[in-house]
Amino acid sequence: MSSTALKAADFTGEQIEEGQKFIINNALFILFHESGHMLVSELGLPVLGREEDAVDGLSSVMLLESEDEELKAAMQDAADGWFLIDEAKGEGPQESDFIDTHGLDRQRAYSMVCMMSGADSDYFQTFIDSLDFPAERREECGGEYAKTRDSWFGLLEQHQDEARKTRFTVTYEPADNPDLQPFADLLQEAQVLEAIEATYGEGYNIPDGIKVTAKTCGTENAFWNEGTREITYCYEMAAYHAALMVNYFTNQNAPADASTEQVEAQSPEAEADANSVKLKLKD
Ligand SMILES: [Zn+2]
Repeated sequence: MSSTALKAADFTGEQIEEGQKFIINNALFILFHESGHMLVSELGLPVLGREEDAVDGLSSVMLLESEDEELKAAMQDAADGWFLIDEAKGEGPQESDFIDTHGLDRQRAYSMVCMMSGADSDYFQTFIDSLDFPAERREECGGEYAKTRDSWFGLLEQHQDEARKTRFTVTYEPADNPDLQPFADLLQEAQVLEAIEATYGEGYNIPDGIKVTAKTCGTENAFWNEGTREITYCYEMAAYHAALMVNYFTNQNAPADASTEQVEAQSPEAEADANSVKLKLKD
């Protein structure tokens, strides 16, 4: 139980880079998910079935159809994020509303993998082959993906206007917390909030003035607020994803003869305070 004594030196430069990319890519998926709620409420889109599943589908489609290959590739980390949450959570209480109100994490990860397979099975082949994803299921994914993409694009088409530009207000608030500030800096440097404006700021009849804000919230979460017309991403969510990676790397670095007890994942919450900021490379 001494892994709280982890030091930055325990991670290679490559791991730190991988961890930062993981945080950024998961933030992108979450922001595109919240943007789905924004579109449903701003454009009055009808939703069949659970809205949470529907906007996960939209988030996947927007990333997978993006001309920006980094957004497409982000799906791998986003799917891994749900697998790691599923493994880390075990039976314990869940602190995040964002996580709670959605489908079972593992199921959610697999439906993302199915979207990836359906969108471009060649591009994601190595990733998908590394998972326990049955061939029969893979065969259904092409059709499932096409259905999800076409129904969303069909809905959005009625609200598109090539000439239209929408103003978004993007804000990275100071974290007011020395443990969380490195995440604020990381997200700002990567311009994650700007990806929403880049995607929806042109060509859609969305009224001006939607706010996209990253801040310290006091909870690991992300929201769309219909009243204030604001998408919020909480720095605590980034810290949570960092903690998942710390666990993952710690298990990876553990000597092969370590007992299973030592290798077992620590609760990410317990790790978050002590170690998560250390994924930020020191200058
Ligand atoms: Zn949601």
